[in-house]
Amino acid sequence: MNARPAEKIATAAIVGHFINGRDVADSARTQPITNPATGEITRQVALASRATVEDAIAAAADAFPSWRNTPPAKRAKILFRFKALLEENADEIVATLTNEHGKVLDDAMGELQRGIEVVDYACGIAELLKGEHTKNVGPDIDSWSEFQPLGVVAGITPFNFPAMVPMWMFPMAIACGNTFVLKPSEKDPSAPMLIAHLFKEAGLPDGVYNVVNGDKEAVDTLLEDKRVQAISFVGSTPIAEYIYTTGTRNGKRVQALGGAKNHAIVMPDADIDNTVSALMGAAYGSCGERCMAISVAVCVGDETADTIVAKLSNELQKLKVGNGTDSCNNMGPLITKAHHDKVRSYVDLGIEEGAELVVDGRPLKVAGYEAGFFLGGCLFDKVTPDMRIYREEIFGPVLCVVRADSQEHAMQLINDHEYGNGTCIFTRDGEAARYFADNIAVGMVGINVPLPVPVAMHSFGGWKRSLFGDLFAYGPDSIRFYTRRKTITQRWPKGGVRDKAQFSFPSNQ
Ligand code: NAD
Repeated sequence: MNARPAEKIATAAIVGHFINGRDVADSARTQPITNPATGEITRQVALASRATVEDAIAAAADAFPSWRNTPPAKRAKILFRFKALLEENADEIVATLTNEHGKVLDDAMGELQRGIEVVDYACGIAELLKGEHTKNVGPDIDSWSEFQPLGVVAGITPFNFPAMVPMWMFPMAIACGNTFVLKPSEKDPSAPMLIAHLFKEAGLPDGVYNVVNGDKEAVDTLLEDKRVQAISFVGSTPIAEYIYTTGTRNGKRVQALGGAKNHAIVMPDADIDNTVSALMGAAYGSCGERCMAISVAVCVGDETADTIVAKLSNELQKLKVGNGTDSCNNMGPLITKAHHDKVRSYVDLGIEEGAELVVDGRPLKVAGYEAGFFLGGCLFDKVTPDMRIYREEIFGPVLCVVRADSQEHAMQLINDHEYGNGTCIFTRDGEAARYFADNIAVGMVGINVPLPVPVAMHSFGGWKRSLFGDLFAYGPDSIRFYTRRKTITQRWPKGGVRDKAQFSFPSNQ
């Protein structure tokens, strides 16, 4: 009997590629995959050559004509089976996520669940693709707009949500009738491979969904190949900008979601204890490696700041850090040794810059996991906007408290920042909250909601240098991104009536 996908992926020494419904090796170049909790190399990931990526694009191009003409309701049936298989295999997917990313199991389950919700939305594709129709736009003339798939589209994704972020992309792209090539993060590629096998098991025709693992060589091949019509990217801002400029220069439609520095404003009237709980989860959940993590708390008034800092500092003493597989832990390790060292160096930098390090996570040691990439939760007070720890994305368990005089002052800080992904206000004042939501230059806004990640029937995206392109990910924007509008105007002249030539511009005058 053939091994189940979960067993195959769990036991592979090298994570290869998934092309045209088959596992493909191409492992001339490889890179280690590490369990960040133990620091051990668990296996290797193959880094695809240009030729292998071209094979994946060719498989997707060959599969397109037939998939494009598959009725949306039939595509939806496969998506329904895929959703069921994701749920049946959730424990294996979640274990894979924790072993390669390090996040705690509950958090990994939350990530998978959010991905499954996008599959749920994609199951409604027959309704979503209905198009627009107008009868009698002129005498005996009808007109309609339909949304046709683009062809081969590609996704390039980051390490921090190895299951969810790919699922922001391929379920909707494929539901719309496109075929897809995914290039996941080389740091934690096993979950996306497992998910690809499950999609095949659900009945997806070979070639419709392909996964190539790799690095810049694979990404550049996708960016340059003329058969790739559109690229969805999620990752850091410098790479997002590179993907956007290179992809659009090569004539592709591109959406490139970048980095973030998400601020929460704490107003003096906020429910302080609930705010502290919300900040703890949003700043230190997933070790701060979320693009929607709160990394700056702007406290309005010194009294608010003093209370928040004292209470956060108290809560941080109780934060349980360790292997994500142990359900008593709140926070796991950082993704790699290199990233750990980078985040730690930002803590050193903050002290040099003159911020007050109220809680220092650097001395933390996790017993039994001395080689893991752990860093305890860190809290800085009296951070100012000129500091690099304020301006730059740290992407770790480091929360900066900035003190502001007023709501206007706090909002000005946010509006002046180069990133505009997510933000939140904690207050009991409806007028202040409404003013905030209206006037803040950020794409996703929370009111007493620290992680305002839109659900699947809305769309996800930031403003400013957190998004290059016009359309957000998943939700209604994804229908627009993954389709091309065509408007057809049709007339059936009445038999026996000879039309006169018309030299004026056609109108209903
Ligand atoms: P990253 O930019 O290093 O990598 C993202 C992808 O780009 C990976 O697949 C990687 O292989 C590829 N890549 C890396 N360097 C490349 C290069 N020079 N040329 C071509 N391709 C390259 O990001 P990461 O470290 O994996 O993820 C963390 C970042 O992603 C953070 O900045 C975070 O804010 C951001 N992120 C943003 C969102 C969002 O929705 N805005 C969501 C998740 C993560």
